[in-house]
Amino acid sequence: MEVNTENTVRQFLYGGEPIAKQFPALHQSVYGKPLVYFDNAATTQKPFSVIHAISDYYNTINSNIHRGVHYLSQKATDAYEVSRKAVASFINARNSSEVIFTKGTTDGINLIADVYGAYALKEGDSVIISAMEHHSNIVPWQLMCDKHGAQLKVIPMNEDGELLMDEFANLLDERVKIVAVGYVSNTLGTINPVKEIIEMAHANGTPVLIDAAQAVQHLSIDVQDLDCDFLAFSGHKMYGPTGIGILYGKEEWLEKLPPYQGGGDMIKTVTFTGTEYNELPFKYEAGTPHIDGAISLKAAVDFINETGIGEIAAFENGLLHYVTSLVNEIPGIEIIGRAKAKTSALSLSVKGVHPYDVGVLLDKMGIAVRTGHHCTQPVMDFYCIPGTVRLSLAVYNTADEIDYFISSLKRAINMLV
Ligand code: PLP
Repeated sequence: MEVNTENTVRQFLYGGEPIAKQFPALHQSVYGKPLVYFDNAATTQKPFSVIHAISDYYNTINSNIHRGVHYLSQKATDAYEVSRKAVASFINARNSSEVIFTKGTTDGINLIADVYGAYALKEGDSVIISAMEHHSNIVPWQLMCDKHGAQLKVIPMNEDGELLMDEFANLLDERVKIVAVGYVSNTLGTINPVKEIIEMAHANGTPVLIDAAQAVQHLSIDVQDLDCDFLAFSGHKMYGPTGIGILYGKEEWLEKLPPYQGGGDMIKTVTFTGTEYNELPFKYEAGTPHIDGAISLKAAVDFINETGIGEIAAFENGLLHYVTSLVNEIPGIEIIGRAKAKTSALSLSVKGVHPYDVGVLLDKMGIAVRTGHHCTQPVMDFYCIPGTVRLSLAVYNTADEIDYFISSLKRAINMLV
């Protein structure tokens, strides 16, 4: 992997230029103020390379894949499969047949909850998730537990937003059929000890699904090293297009689990008396997929690889420490989530002020932050707060933007209290 060594503490440089130059949507004014985009955990902005990959597809090879003998269809099929290979190597999957294109993280988790639930869950079994899961990694399991008479168990966390691993050990028994945990919390930024979780679950004979929605854009992921059984993430949070995501699954699992949706592409032969399913990965890709999304996801993978995930992480970490130290000096603000291992998401609670009001004022100053429960209502219940103001940083954010954010936040608080 190429490593970029040019970046400074205040902004990330690539080829001698601020990396933000590659992201057209960043260069606009909102309400007459330069846009400061700090809502990257919700979705990242897209570099020109991704935008061009989408328009190139429609300008040149638009056609359906895996079906046509004609030139365009073969070109599109090749590009789609090349992208699958790029993703496989990005996460170090053993084989690209273990990489399934989905709509996103939510879709991938629902897929596994559905097929694994049908395969393994029986009355009296249990599923373990954690206290800091996104609703996308709670509700699919609740639905499956309800359907199969199983029980949902939750790994608790401490006030800093770190999982209590002893409690996890206590939850593991022979009735636990799957563990599904987030690699990184979208609200707290906590990096969970997923390798240890996987080892402990495997020692119990239990497979593990990792929700990597907030991890792939910040951390190097090696599914073989992690030894996870399933891993799901979304393209749009890693500088790629919306509506496309990845579900990785170990071949031995994907081979033996039943299919999910039925339709074109996931079959080998169909008669009215029965259907033979297609081989992996097509068994799990029914219907015409998001072809341009899948193809342009490769441009996002290339962007991260060329920029260097280690460099991205180091730079974002510097920004996180910078903003954390400045926020710590503002009276009346509490940082929600103080885990030792964190990515660049920072949740704030302003004493006596509703997060929504802070968010609206910041918006008028050109700053995009997220306010509310961030699809983690149990986390809000744990801290007894209605929501937080969350800033989540990406490689194109700068220390100057943080300085502006801090002065704007102080202004907003002065107006509200
Ligand atoms: N899991 C986590 C940790 C997330 O942060 C998100 C989105 O914010 C999701 C799952 C769902 O991702 P998507 O909406 O792209 O399916």
